[in-house]
Amino acid sequence: MSALPPGSVIGILGGGQLARMLVLAAAPLGLKCHIFAPETDSPAFQVSASHMVAQYTDESALLEFAAEVDVVTYEFENVPVAAVEFLEKLKPVRPGSKALSVAQDRLKEKWLARDMGAMTADFTSVDSLEELRKRAGLMIEYPSILKTTRLGYDGKGQAKLHSESDIDAAWAVMKNQPAILEGFVHFDREISVICARGVDGAFAAYEPTENVHRNHILHTSTVPAVLDVELAIEAVYLAQRMADTLEYVGVLAVEFFVGAHSLYVNEIAPRVHNSGHWTQDACVVSQFEQHIRSVAGWPLGATFRHSDVVMTNLLGDEADAWEKLANQPNLGLHLYGKAESRPGRKMGHYNRITPRQG
Ligand code: AMP
Repeated sequence: MSALPPGSVIGILGGGQLARMLVLAAAPLGLKCHIFAPETDSPAFQVSASHMVAQYTDESALLEFAAEVDVVTYEFENVPVAAVEFLEKLKPVRPGSKALSVAQDRLKEKWLARDMGAMTADFTSVDSLEELRKRAGLMIEYPSILKTTRLGYDGKGQAKLHSESDIDAAWAVMKNQPAILEGFVHFDREISVICARGVDGAFAAYEPTENVHRNHILHTSTVPAVLDVELAIEAVYLAQRMADTLEYVGVLAVEFFVGAHSLYVNEIAPRVHNSGHWTQDACVVSQFEQHIRSVAGWPLGATFRHSDVVMTNLLGDEADAWEKLANQPNLGLHLYGKAESRPGRKMGHYNRITPRQG
């Protein structure tokens, strides 16, 4: 397919801040967005050309949505695969259901990384309390982390095990859902690679980003990351192999743990990612524009970074400091237009840029 011309409509499943920033990045390219989301107060509705409120299981709504768009993408990986498979019969969906089904399943994700020759934490599947009792401490040494295989994010559905006495409580967190037990990686730092693959198979990656979490939620992303150049090259190479294997189209985020001279793949996200928000103010083409370019069949944009940058998330009432932040030079402020602030809720972020050193 040739590139979608300006005036075309990109359909986005999900209406949160990521969709909102995709819409804002599509506008300068003359592309319009149509949002499909179940929540009536979705932040993306405030800025998009059109939207519809419906459940992802509502096939007649999906049919109507498909008729109104030229291509479909999604802003989060918990969109039901069935909805994407349904839409794929009607319009191109980028990235497709293959990438989505891998990203929704921590076991498939780990096997994909291993197939690429990458290291991951040791892991085993655990489907019952009995299995956990048999495997914890024996197959996977303590400390370890138990995670729901599906539908986990920002540390939700996870429990750490230090000894046998933690088994019952950890299993209770899983609420009887299938789980994965992971060995604890004693890493020095966490990084991610934000990359993109075009319809024609072209590939482009931003520099690896160093990420710091607080209470399992991203706090800051810093670029340049403190990272051996060999590990940076390996991280980008692994991301490219994964994107190629998944026949991926769009922006892909790959998160890694970094140990002494070693990389471990933690997880992938088939979408624009919080750890790529720094590209909005430190690069000519942001991850959001890059995703729009990819899914619309446009050439990929430059990933060159013109400034050093630290991105900081604003959670809950931290966003109340907007006026003070707006007064600071060299700071790109991005607020998500959410009416209700709750502790831990992502309300916005800012990018503090400084001249590039070297
Ligand atoms: P996840 O939802 O898998 O990204 O996990 C959230 C955070 O928990 C990660 O960013 C790490 O800080 C930590 N974490 C997850 N898995 C492991 C592991 N196997 N070893 C050490 N820390 C982990």
